[in-house]
Amino acid sequence: MKIAFIGLGNMGGPMARNLLKAGHQVVAVDLNREAVQELVSAGASAGDLAQAAQCQVVISMLPAGRHVASLYLGDDGLLAKLAKGTLVIDSSTIDAATAKLVHQHAEPLGIDFVDAPVSGGTAGAAAGTLTFIVGGQDSAFDRAKPVLDAMGANIFHAGGAGAGQVAKICNNMLLSVLMAGTCEALQLGLAHGLDATVLSNIMKVSSGGNWVLEKYNPVPGVMENAPASKGYQGGFMSQLMSKDLELAMGAAGEVAAPVPMGALARSLYQMHNKKGNGTKDFSSLLALFEE
Ligand code: NAD
Repeated sequence: MKIAFIGLGNMGGPMARNLLKAGHQVVAVDLNREAVQELVSAGASAGDLAQAAQCQVVISMLPAGRHVASLYLGDDGLLAKLAKGTLVIDSSTIDAATAKLVHQHAEPLGIDFVDAPVSGGTAGAAAGTLTFIVGGQDSAFDRAKPVLDAMGANIFHAGGAGAGQVAKICNNMLLSVLMAGTCEALQLGLAHGLDATVLSNIMKVSSGGNWVLEKYNPVPGVMENAPASKGYQGGFMSQLMSKDLELAMGAAGEVAAPVPMGALARSLYQMHNKKGNGTKDFSSLLALFEE
């Protein structure tokens, strides 16, 4: 299939590579020329929005809702340029309201749109083992699934328009709480002179075991491939976690759901980012407890 991939950052770049590996033709679109060139060297062709509009499938992987809205909506937006029957997959993590708005604009144009945010981080993007959490009509999900299979291991249909974003935000709010709690517990042990690897191995198989301890240890040197061991680079930026927590607070406000743990994690990330850590991986939150 001919697929336009818009947004080739930490996540989009490796995801698009997996589409190439699966035999798809990929038209690479990004504001950053280097990101486009990297994908061209892997076999893609460099493109712009006019070329993207000629593709059967369009995938976007952009930072936030405002980028997605400005890409697709309005008289000059991409939706207005697409042929009827085009499949559009937005895998960015954004607010459910913007996702629903794009759904509303796509439907009368005969465009199959799904919100399909991901979980699994940059490692999952590179390995093609992402979890896709999809919102949209059954028929659009059925069309999207074989494309998503090339980039992910688990493809869930969460519900109708925007449901993928809501489920994703629930997950990331929980992740932020697990990361904050794990940093706090590890730092307590370290302050008592315990070895980070020994303590992590104990907690990992005990009742405190969680995804952070298993896959994403925040202490440098405990896990060779974790961002903590690479200067907190190349993972999921703290500022993006803050963004997701703002989305979670917004979603909670809409239905008056109490989210005290998420609200605390949001404040911790705000403090951490104000200290200049916004572009570091979100596991760098450990520094807040070290201080
Ligand atoms: P990133 O900042 O590394 O990449 C975003 C890319 O989009 C950049 O290359 C940027 O140049 C490009 N871009 C921005 N506006 C554009 C436009 N109008 N047209 C074309 N290109 C444009 O971000 P990322 O880490 O890849 O994250 C992307 C999305 O995935 C975010 O919504 C994030 O919350 C979500 N996400 C990230 C991770 C992670 O571990 N990094 C995990 C799950 C979900």
